[in-house]
Amino acid sequence: MTTQVSEVLDRLLQLAAHDDRLKRLEETLARAPAAAQVHEAAAAEVAGKIRLLAEKLAVLKAQVRLRENELKGHEQKVARLKQQSGEVRTNREFMAFRSEIANTQAEADRLAGEVLRILDVVNQAEARLGALSAERDRALQAAAEARRQEEEDQLERKAERDGLVRERPACSEGIPAEALELYERARQARGHGMAVLEGAYCSACGDLQTRNDVYAVQNRTRLVPCKGCNRILFLA
Ligand SMILES: [Zn+2]
Repeated sequence: MTTQVSEVLDRLLQLAAHDDRLKRLEETLARAPAAAQVHEAAAAEVAGKIRLLAEKLAVLKAQVRLRENELKGHEQKVARLKQQSGEVRTNREFMAFRSEIANTQAEADRLAGEVLRILDVVNQAEARLGALSAERDRALQAAAEARRQEEEDQLERKAERDGLVRERPACSEGIPAEALELYERARQARGHGMAVLEGAYCSACGDLQTRNDVYAVQNRTRLVPCKGCNRILFLA
């Protein structure tokens, strides 16, 4: 066992652990705002329902106004007819007025009934609208809270990341240039510079290693990059 090679390997493993932490942090930083987005999507869905219901409500209220105007016209007509019926001279004329008054009043009653029925639906829709608005507000509040929390977490992660970046030169200091180059080449190509040797195989890519290389890894006599993926092999 060559002490120097063994030391270099240990230094490389420390560097790899450092780079792994850095990589995980970078990945977490990149995909962070997920929780807030879930709440924002929920709020947007409820807002869509609110919009549809508000449109329906506007139509219903327009129908109420229309019938109320019509109803007013009928009520005025009944009042006018009653006044005119007081001035008739013949029984026949009186009967004709009475019949028209009855018909107009029946139509007014029908319209009044419709107005009540529509107002009932309007009340239900307004209650539902209130519930939906509360639901949307809760989702928006949760989204804001999640966003605030995420920003806080992100600040912590960024500080940790910056620390790791600052400490990295010290991690690689003193490692022979050749060894560092082997490591960096694999790390940049594969995202990781080291791989565990399992039996005679590279655990990362599955390549079979030569007997000589397996011995060299086992005894730490030299650095052995995997023939398949270039990662530096070591025993776990
Ligand atoms: Zn490999």
